[in-house]
Amino acid sequence: MTETAPARARAEIDLAALRANVRSLRAQAPAAALMAVVKSDAYGHGAVPCARAALDAGAAWLGTATPEEALALRAAGLPGRIMCWLWTPGGPWREAVEADLDLGISGMWALREATRAARAAGRTARVQLKADTGLGRNGCQPADWPELVAEARRAETEGLVVVTGLWSHFARADEPGHPSIDAQLTSFREMLAHAEGQGLRPEVRHIANSPATLTLPETHFDLVRTGIALYGISPSPELGTPADLGLRPVMTLSASLALVKHVPAGHGVSYGHHYVTAGDTTLGLVPVGYADGIPRHASGTGPVLVGGKWRTVAGRVAMDQFAVDLGGDEPPVGDRVVLFGPGDHGEPTAEDWAQAAGTIAYEIVTRIGTRVPRVYVND
Ligand SMILES: *Cc1c(COP(=O)(O)O)cnc(C)c1O
Repeated sequence: MTETAPARARAEIDLAALRANVRSLRAQAPAAALMAVVKSDAYGHGAVPCARAALDAGAAWLGTATPEEALALRAAGLPGRIMCWLWTPGGPWREAVEADLDLGISGMWALREATRAARAAGRTARVQLKADTGLGRNGCQPADWPELVAEARRAETEGLVVVTGLWSHFARADEPGHPSIDAQLTSFREMLAHAEGQGLRPEVRHIANSPATLTLPETHFDLVRTGIALYGISPSPELGTPADLGLRPVMTLSASLALVKHVPAGHGVSYGHHYVTAGDTTLGLVPVGYADGIPRHASGTGPVLVGGKWRTVAGRVAMDQFAVDLGGDEPPVGDRVVLFGPGDHGEPTAEDWAQAAGTIAYEIVTRIGTRVPRVYVND
């Protein structure tokens, strides 16, 4: 989408920043290939344009959670390796096999559905067995691993599947030095050794997400799966700012100031009147709300840059709008209100909103709604 009339609100997506982040991450994991994780519409940034930009900048793989997301990328013409890992029974296995996707497999039921689909399609399914090395979420427990490996090996000899990968996921990679990291690595190495001992020859072994890619080189193996870092956001403020990590935020969210008006002292603002003006002042109306993904939990706390100053959400964030107290200033209507961006023009960042709302920056960008147009710049 290109910019035409001033919009109520827009999320500007800087594809040059995304490409630079891919190059920076590749330089920080030089021995591994890079998977650009573009699940959930590229964390709210737009899956297809971000996937294309990531491949242009040297990502070798694309990753999604659901098969539907992966199939949509393939349908949009994205080439190469695309992996998806969040399956449910009856999922689009056959479509996925026919679209040449790599299928994350966490248990026997999934391996059976993949093999059945391969037989029906007359093709070999590319599968990647996922080990639960301690996260306790998706993945196969160590006790069940030998059975899964044996069944995969049997299906390989029948030509129904090829095991292209063995992989796992960290629970606490954003806490460098946490003992669970070494424990998970030890378990991963044991599960790899078992699978390889049974004759599996995976093309890629992988466990690193963004925080591991940025801080734990011993976790890189053959492939790193980076999500949040691609979008220029630090996985955790404890690891440093994006700039500290060689990253630049990709999304800038702004809105057009919809109204500026004088109000007297003692005037309640927004539902519930949780904010009451302390004196005569001006209020500015920002025409975005929780329907657009602005967290209602940031009522009274979320920061914006307007008229060259930081202002705070006054009272509640409503579905479509919130107010800020402009302290008597009168910026013109139509002025750009920046909710968050890279931060180098004085604007708040997604991390500032995360702190204001008591959440993580991942959630801030990912929840920006479909009513906010994405405007791609520096394509
Ligand atoms: C989302 C996800 C990632 C990417 O995580 P980030 O912390 O955003 O880098 C990697 N692997 C899996 C399995 C995921 O679900």
